[in-house]
Amino acid sequence: MQAACRLNSRRPAQKAEARRQRLVFTHAAATEAATEGEDTVIEANGKMIVVESDGTIIIGGPEAVARASARSEALEAAPESAEVEYLTGRANAVQKHFPSSLGADDFMQRVEMALYAFGFTGDNSIAMVNLCRDEVTLTLKHRIEETFGSAFSTNGLGGVLTCGVTGMGAGFSHSPLCSSNKERYVFFSFPHISINASGEVGPMSRPGRPGQSCACGALIKATNEIKSEGLTCNCKIPGVHDALDPEMSILKQRIARRLRHEGNTDESVKNLSLVDITKVAERTISDDLEFLISKTVNTDKADYAVVTGVQIHNWANDFEDASPNMEFVAPTSAYVVVDGVKTHLDLTAMPPMTPRQMRLVAGPADVCNQGGQTMLREEEAPYAFDSKDARRSQKARLQRYLSLMKEEGLDGTGATSVPSWQSKIVKGTPERCATADNSTIIDSSFAENAELRKIWVQLEEKYKMPSN
Ligand SMILES: [Zn+2]
Repeated sequence: MQAACRLNSRRPAQKAEARRQRLVFTHAAATEAATEGEDTVIEANGKMIVVESDGTIIIGGPEAVARASARSEALEAAPESAEVEYLTGRANAVQKHFPSSLGADDFMQRVEMALYAFGFTGDNSIAMVNLCRDEVTLTLKHRIEETFGSAFSTNGLGGVLTCGVTGMGAGFSHSPLCSSNKERYVFFSFPHISINASGEVGPMSRPGRPGQSCACGALIKATNEIKSEGLTCNCKIPGVHDALDPEMSILKQRIARRLRHEGNTDESVKNLSLVDITKVAERTISDDLEFLISKTVNTDKADYAVVTGVQIHNWANDFEDASPNMEFVAPTSAYVVVDGVKTHLDLTAMPPMTPRQMRLVAGPADVCNQGGQTMLREEEAPYAFDSKDARRSQKARLQRYLSLMKEEGLDGTGATSVPSWQSKIVKGTPERCATADNSTIIDSSFAENAELRKIWVQLEEKYKMPSN
């Protein structure tokens, strides 16, 4: 088999057309030593040697030389703008649904700079973070904690805010105190959604899990159920919940009540998409947060900032493929209240960092470049525990072990079982052993009492038909 090798990489950029013409000449002159311009083509021992004008030497048969040159042409055909074009395409697919979307690192740098201008830092503030329970939302929580230190979490399924005034007060009491004895809180609240590399809304790849997963599972479930069951029956009496499924039932009924409040009907909800419901969830949760703030924050004692929006996972269709996994945040509101005075912040009016600055601040990344109006960075360590590179190198390592076992005669010898530490455990029943008792989750005396059930159904019916 003949191969072409490039012995000198000092080739300056040349136009593809000039190379094509040189190749045409090379094929035609395969049997005779000749020169064309400053290139020299020599045939020796059935191989062709091309000495290019810049000193580059290509050795091989006509086919190998053609293949090597085709590769060079392909490189020349890929302009430097290709990365920005690709990333802009990815950003456009996200911004089509959420126009304010920014790369997660870009978003975080803008938030940090804007809040610093009003006196908020990681040293003098506590972050109050409200996200979905989904592990993928940690990609944003890690970024917040990099900036503002360990956060007080009020997470719920779908981002539903159920911590109440007690949860808020607990977080506030952990705030650092600045020199003027003031507390500072920075609230972050975001439901989430997946828009994958192909622009599909909902599907999501996850590390180590073949096939498609989705995000947000809780909001997808709520969307499907409200569309199929209708709005009226999901507008439960405020304050009730399903004892076996408290967060999901609270999330779903709050979204339903919000939809009714915004003028939707049993008929109109059938046309709502996951993007629509995610935006409704954001409005619901952000207003819930405002209500809790109004009931708990004392502006004589504290300054605070609120940043709300939607977290968007723009990951590869397959977790380990060549496509970069990226995170976006679409802010809907950002403001500070300092000494009781409220100031709104427009994060989209701030410039993004340069790629160099972003790498310095957020850590090295293979992909870190402009995508439309924002700066995008591939989702890898330090913000994701499970990276594409780690998975690829694990696969390579396992392949190496398989061949080493053959090479070193260890094939099958490691499969022999050895007594495990578990075999040494003395069997017995501990003093306290939890049982599946339902005295707290479901009080069966209530569920089975016919009279109470009848009154309950009447109450529910009365609430579903509010007087106009
Ligand atoms: Zn979720």
